[in-house]
Amino acid sequence: MSQVKPTILVTGGAGYIGTHAVLALIKAGYGVVVLDNLVYGHRELVENVLKVELVVGDMSDRALLDQLFATRNIAAVMHFAAYIAVGESVTDPAKYYHNNVAGTLTLLEAMVAANVKKFVFSSTCAIYGMPQEVPMTEHHPQNPLSPYATSKWMVEKILADFDLAYDFRSVAFRYFNASGANPDGLLGEDHEPETHLIPLVLQTALGKRESIFILGTDYPTPDGTGIRDYIHVSDLADAHVLGLEYLLQGGTSDVFNLGNGNGFSVREVIETAKAVTGREIPAVERDRRAGDAPILVGSSDKAKKILGWCPQYADLSKIVADAWQWHQHRHG
Ligand code: UDP
Repeated sequence: MSQVKPTILVTGGAGYIGTHAVLALIKAGYGVVVLDNLVYGHRELVENVLKVELVVGDMSDRALLDQLFATRNIAAVMHFAAYIAVGESVTDPAKYYHNNVAGTLTLLEAMVAANVKKFVFSSTCAIYGMPQEVPMTEHHPQNPLSPYATSKWMVEKILADFDLAYDFRSVAFRYFNASGANPDGLLGEDHEPETHLIPLVLQTALGKRESIFILGTDYPTPDGTGIRDYIHVSDLADAHVLGLEYLLQGGTSDVFNLGNGNGFSVREVIETAKAVTGREIPAVERDRRAGDAPILVGSSDKAKKILGWCPQYADLSKIVADAWQWHQHRHG
């Protein structure tokens, strides 16, 4: 007889990584309630593709949170709701600290009050700052270089203190470059404005942009362009379910990198996209983007060892092909 699994509140469940995590939770048999203010999220993906309950509201609305915890029998929270534009966080840090830190604190306080004390948090490898070693492990020194990264770093600190004071258990996942799309083509990345390399390259392939700018060709890398660790969003989503189950089974609070352990340069991404799409992708060389590291590659050995995480889509061609399918479906 199959056991009924508990209900999970997913904040930001209408966004890029959140929608994929909701799908992974549904496939694993969990009940899901999505809380999303729809500032950047996509209502139709929750309602028409995922077909789970969508509560439109903000995590800084304490009364709404209290009501949700009182009425939905929620066992744990997966928290994706956050602003993510690094450049904007530099020009408007108040927006980032208000939403990503103060909003999250409100959510955490409501959880403690409701005695819901299991939390899976969407963090970032950006908390490490400029790499001092490659691949980076969870022990790498922390030096967030933008208000965005600092906001995630602050929440990790809050979680450590909540653990000690309130028996509040959390898993924080430090993502490398989330990319790709659900292999069925129905979920994917749709940010406005878009700043990430793979979607910009594919928009260029579709003719929505004239060219892709290669931001920096004088990095100390074999072809001079930046190297990143691209990890398939469905693999990220699977890790979140494993992290949740680890907590539900009584696991202690911990932090885990999530990446592929393989680095690809900007030129390699463009070449892969040309091969996958069969289209022309004009590229124009530009100066470096402020704050970009030459190489970011992570070690995810800890997540593999402790959570049993096993990424399925390590191949860059597969990541780009799944993203391409989504882009054609969405914008083609
Ligand atoms: N990049 C680029 N052109 C763009 C956007 C990004 O050359 O239009 C480069 C960027 O410098 C980095 C890599 O692509 O080396 C990945 O950037 P992205 O913004 O996707 O993720 P990040 O690593 O900054 O989180």
